Amino acid sequence: MVFIPENFLSNAVKAFPSSGIGKFFDIKTIKPEAISFGLGEPDFVTPQVLREAAVRSLAEGKTSYTSSAGVPELRKAIAGYLEESFGVSYDHRDEIIVTVGGSEAIDIALRALINPQDEIIIPEPCFVSYKPCAALAGAKVVTVPTGMESGFKVTAEELEKYLTPRTKALFINSPSNPTGVAMTKEELLPIADFVKKHNLLVISDEIYAELTYDAKHCSIASFPGMKERTVIISGFSKAFAMTGWRIGYICAHPAIIKAILKIHQYVVMCAPMIGQYAALEGLKSGGVEVARMTEEYKRRRAFVVSRFRAMGLPICEPGGAFYAFPCIKETGLSSEEFCERLLDEQCVAVVPGNAFGASGEGFIRCSYATSMEMLKAGLERMEIFLRGLKRA
Ligand code: PMP
Repeated sequence: MVFIPENFLSNAVKAFPSSGIGKFFDIKTIKPEAISFGLGEPDFVTPQVLREAAVRSLAEGKTSYTSSAGVPELRKAIAGYLEESFGVSYDHRDEIIVTVGGSEAIDIALRALINPQDEIIIPEPCFVSYKPCAALAGAKVVTVPTGMESGFKVTAEELEKYLTPRTKALFINSPSNPTGVAMTKEELLPIADFVKKHNLLVISDEIYAELTYDAKHCSIASFPGMKERTVIISGFSKAFAMTGWRIGYICAHPAIIKAILKIHQYVVMCAPMIGQYAALEGLKSGGVEVARMTEEYKRRRAFVVSRFRAMGLPICEPGGAFYAFPCIKETGLSSEEFCERLLDEQCVAVVPGNAFGASGEGFIRCSYATSMEMLKAGLERMEIFLRGLKRA
């Protein structure tokens, strides 16, 4: 018999495309001369105090598995931090699991919650892993398109249209990857009411919670009656510049945490110990560094937004994260054409908006987690590219 490996793959995997970011993720390897705004990753190295804590933990021989839910001191610190920063209170004993990044958190939370054909509402454009992870868990994904008119925000009224008797959960990601949009308390409140009225759960990805520039982050879990209905996904990759350490966490009702923990134990056992000690130090003494990086992102946001507007590209001012999501429809190019040509002609990498769902078509995602110097040079090149398009 001829061996055809494709015949052995699961239909679920075959059904979704590889991440549209993938191509631009490794661009520096393929094109070292490129200026890349493609990565959703801080350009800062992990703050020194955190790295020192990790080295110390190694010197002390902390090289083993940890408790599956994570080092208790870290869970305690996470609980204290969430209470103090966002007014949501979780018991470190049975309401928090430390995960291998927010990525694992998304996957195992979905797998613990979804039965085949349960519907999950996901506002788009959205982070690339939501739909594939939901589909792998067996969910029927119901996407809600958003655009510039609504500032890329969903409303309870809009969500009602997508509701069916099978709807089980709603994804919220504020501040958002890819749009940078941060929902205010006033905007989240009616959504919380919608969730309660229809007896749903919210999976709230708050991984950019610290990186907000206009108003303090609001967690939907902080509203009355919402804590038990919310599964918070978060982590240290972004605000603490710890992408390589792979430390995230989930907070939820004890019954939900218990179910998620079963999967976590089977698939990873626990998050890496050294990373957990670095994260713990981050919560103890990394606040100053987080504030410094946040200030720098805020400065870059102002620069990037004003440059896009000056180039004639409409943009919703991002309230958080480190992404700008300008509209390139005026150029007449598709998102993919725009990105391919910008890379070929000016050696600048950005991500096509449609990598984040169909409603991202006509937009590009530009990460400003890169130095001011690079931003200036890259946006200069983009302007030259746009001028060239107008002349053609
Ligand atoms: N959620 C969102 C919205 C993200 O942008 C990312 C990373 N790009 C993650 C989760 C996962 O991050 P990590 O696994 O590094 O914690």
